[in-house]
Amino acid sequence: MLETGQQIVTAEQFQPRVSKLLASKGGKVLEAPFALTVYLCPSCFAVQHALSESGRDEIVRRMAEEKE
Ligand SMILES: [Zn+2]
Repeated sequence: MLETGQQIVTAEQFQPRVSKLLASKGGKVLEAPFALTVYLCPSCFAVQHALSESGRDEIVRRMAEEKE
């Protein structure tokens, strides 16, 4: 997969799923705005998205906070 760029997802574009297990930020698992890294398969041109590095750090940080 080739990394082709970043897609920014704004609050207007994203309806967060709320988890009862998460106390902070109203239980939102992921809160917009966040960035997605966009990957492209060079043989079939399928596009895949993954949460960007900064978004991953945020999730890890929040999960650690919840455990305290
Ligand atoms: Zn492919």
